[in-house]
Amino acid sequence: MPRPVKWRKIENLPEYRMFKPANIPAFELEENILKVEELEAIRLRDLEGLNQTACAEKMKISRQTFQRIYNKAKKKVADSLINGKAIKVKGGNYTQNICTLVCEECNHKWKKRIEDIERKGKDKILCPECGEHDILCDTSNIKGYCGERCRERKGCKY
Ligand SMILES: [Zn+2]
Repeated sequence: MPRPVKWRKIENLPEYRMFKPANIPAFELEENILKVEELEAIRLRDLEGLNQTACAEKMKISRQTFQRIYNKAKKKVADSLINGKAIKVKGGNYTQNICTLVCEECNHKWKKRIEDIERKGKDKILCPECGEHDILCDTSNIKGYCGERCRERKGCKY
């Protein structure tokens, strides 16, 4: 059985990564590390004004997971605002898209983050089952981004 995917989908990478109280040098401040997906939770819920269900759907996670991420995010932000701590946005377990890959040879299916596919180079990805490198993206459950990328791919049905 493949491990369940735990990536949280985000729409865009955050532009601003550091906040701090004015007139105090950063090295004197305690800081809260806000994960990228925690900031995305605040963005969707508080800025876009979506309800919990819609937020969870956008991030491709359960409502319980969304609520947990959101609660953590709010607690860090509140702690920073009240207690004068810096906020640094970094790290986390996020992706801008999740692709389902299919091996042409053995039909094995697995999931990968689009960032990992791009970093490695799409022609260098090997099937974890048989080692074959003719890999297709099965975009049946992903519309848009992944399909666009995969159109260039030799043998890709999209
Ligand atoms: Zn294979």
